[in-house]
Amino acid sequence: MIKDLVGMGVLRSERVVRAMSKVPRELFLPPELRKYAYLDTPLPIGFGQTISAPHMVALMTELLEVQVGNKVLEVGTGSGYQAAILAELVGDEGHVYTVEIVKELVEFSRENLMRAGYLGRVTVIHGDGSLGYEAASPYDRIIVTAAAPDIPNPLVSQLRPGGRMVIPVGDAYLQHLTVVRKDVDSSVEVEVGTPCVFVPLVGRYGWRE
Ligand code: SAH
Repeated sequence: MIKDLVGMGVLRSERVVRAMSKVPRELFLPPELRKYAYLDTPLPIGFGQTISAPHMVALMTELLEVQVGNKVLEVGTGSGYQAAILAELVGDEGHVYTVEIVKELVEFSRENLMRAGYLGRVTVIHGDGSLGYEAASPYDRIIVTAAAPDIPNPLVSQLRPGGRMVIPVGDAYLQHLTVVRKDVDSSVEVEVGTPCVFVPLVGRYGWRE
């Protein structure tokens, strides 16, 4: 699967290839779906939510340009798979904070991350991630893995100057992967990229439930 992603051109950097080769995706799936872990497709994880397709994880992770030692915020923990990839990339000096709004998925992802050995570098928080997670801010990187109607203001505020955010922005049916760069002088640059389809971000700055 990793070779295919490299062939497709979505996996480009040695570091992301290594991280994706190392994290066993089957550990982040319900037992009955583990046999499909290495198909490049999103899969259901319950509560109407999905684990993203590997090519989407690869693409977003490449765009995020995570460095060793970074403090990363993820909005939308889901299975915990993306958080585990980020944990590989930040190393021992870094940390990943990930916010999930569905209580049962907070439990599910914690168990998965524990089994895979990443709970030391990842903190799973139950809450509305469209508000970010002020307590541990500012972040070097922010990744949102649910579809947002707009770029939530609190997330821009919680990004460190020089930081970067990757977020799917659009309507409920189609979004575009958007990269937000905050300059050292705190000016913000937005670049709209590849079309994509995510489950909706809910909460205060998402699609209201
Ligand atoms: N990154 C995940 C996939 C995310 S699916 C993985 O690797 O498996 C999107 C997730 O975002 C869902 O679990 C959904 O419950 C969550 N979500 C939606 N709105 C949210 C919000 N406002 N705050 C936190 N999580 C949210």
